Amino acid sequence: MLLDTVKGVAGLAKQIGDIELNSKIIDLQSEVYDLIEENHQLRMNMKQLEEKMNELEDIKQIEKKLKPIGQAYYYEKGTELDGPYCTGCWDKDNNLIRIHVTESYADFHVGNCPVCKVVTTYEGKMGK
Ligand SMILES: [Zn+2]
Repeated sequence: MLLDTVKGVAGLAKQIGDIELNSKIIDLQSEVYDLIEENHQLRMNMKQLEEKMNELEDIKQIEKKLKPIGQAYYYEKGTELDGPYCTGCWDKDNNLIRIHVTESYADFHVGNCPVCKVVTTYEGKMGK
């Protein structure tokens, strides 16, 4: 490894006993430590960016399958629609939050979002 090589060179330089060479080796060691730290930081940043990219890809995939019907979203699962989901929570934070039904009528329902607390009406027989 790079660090072992540098330590080896530092040991040899010590044996030679040249002050200027020793000083240069110490500088070199310090620069190698900085590079290792920077490399570590870059790897961490890259990992975070990869995670963010995957997250955005997931959001894109979900968004393709969301259908706005009335005041709610429904998620297309094959031939079925799952939902209703809160439009506010998805549009603002990309959170898919299922609306809780509080009242059901013949052709519409009343529900609320457990997260943003919005009360909404929606059509259809889904989500009962
Ligand atoms: Zn909500």
